[in-house]
Amino acid sequence: MKLFLKAHRRWREAQMFAHAMASANHPILAQIIPIRRCNLACTYCNEFDKDSPPVPTEEMLRRIDKLSALGTSIITFSGGEPTLHPELDLLIRRVRENGAIATLITNGYLLTPDRIRRFNKAGLDYLQISIDNVQPDDVSKKSLKVLDRKLEWLAEYGDFDVTINSVLGSEITQPEDAYQIARRARELGFNSTVGILHEGGGQLRPLNTLQTGVYDRILSLGTGLFSFAHLDAFQRNVARALPNSWHCPAGGRFLYICEDGLVHYCSQQRGQPGIPLAQYTREDLIWEGSKPKGCAPFCTISCVHQTAMLDNFRTRPRETLAGIIARRKERHPAWQPPSSVRALEWMFLRDSRTRDFFGAIALRLLRAK
Ligand code: SF4
Ligand code: SF4
Repeated sequence: MKLFLKAHRRWREAQMFAHAMASANHPILAQIIPIRRCNLACTYCNEFDKDSPPVPTEEMLRRIDKLSALGTSIITFSGGEPTLHPELDLLIRRVRENGAIATLITNGYLLTPDRIRRFNKAGLDYLQISIDNVQPDDVSKKSLKVLDRKLEWLAEYGDFDVTINSVLGSEITQPEDAYQIARRARELGFNSTVGILHEGGGQLRPLNTLQTGVYDRILSLGTGLFSFAHLDAFQRNVARALPNSWHCPAGGRFLYICEDGLVHYCSQQRGQPGIPLAQYTREDLIWEGSKPKGCAPFCTISCVHQTAMLDNFRTRPRETLAGIIARRKERHPAWQPPSSVRALEWMFLRDSRTRDFFGAIALRLLRAK
């Protein structure tokens, strides 16, 4: 059953990818906040409060439907702590009924075997837990010690994919912990990613030598082709606090919907554009997505970088794919591309007639055109 669900998810991801390739006028990813309250209080976090109520379910359903009407491919519930919303299952189910990929970012504290089974039933596709340290400390209680039992439950009962995100940055006093967390994630069959803590505004803070070494070791564990860990050029600059040259497509390909139902560029640029989602139009998507963002060179918001990478692939498939494969081989000379990558290689790295012919058939098969 788990294998079947996984294969079906890969097929839906391929459709999402093809849809993103076929048109640039819809959001690839929207992050939506069902509640701003959090049951923890990590000292580096500016995305929570201690008392706000959940957004009423009817209102959340309206917002999900509006995102679907705009053509959103992936809808991610974030917070605050989204599992504090009493009807989160219903919201996940609506995302799936509307044909989008449903994902959840949680601190994991409220996970139980029963809650995990309810997520299965609702159709959750991905869950991400961020773990900050091995032992809880004054900065963060999101520790491997506290959450390891939850991770085992996820491995045992979850039908969805799980990613464990570890973090590095000045507030994290034991950078070695991030590597231990990533190894534990791998041991349980999960994906692992690593993020770098940013200042308010989403901007970089340079890592020291020890942190950079841990960062490089985690990235060398490797993961899926289009994951954060393969944005090599970007990630090297992030770790060393060097600027990146890219176009941030927030407001178009990426949307952040706050608890008040307003569209923002991202969690760190609230207030821009600040338009109610209910009134957001296709013209807004195109206009806001194309605006240059002054914060882009030192931005660390990896999910927005990922949407930008899909657009790079859309406009320059050969160069983007060839660059990703070359950098991966540079890091691991013995690396062999998995079958999905070989298929993309075959479609896009052959001569242009082959590419155009088979690329068009693939898009049709995936119902993207
Ligand atoms: S658990 Fe997440 S939302 Fe809550 S305070 Fe920590 S980082 Fe912020
Ligand atoms: S560059 Fe884009 S994602 Fe990054 S902080 Fe600015 S608006 Fe947000």
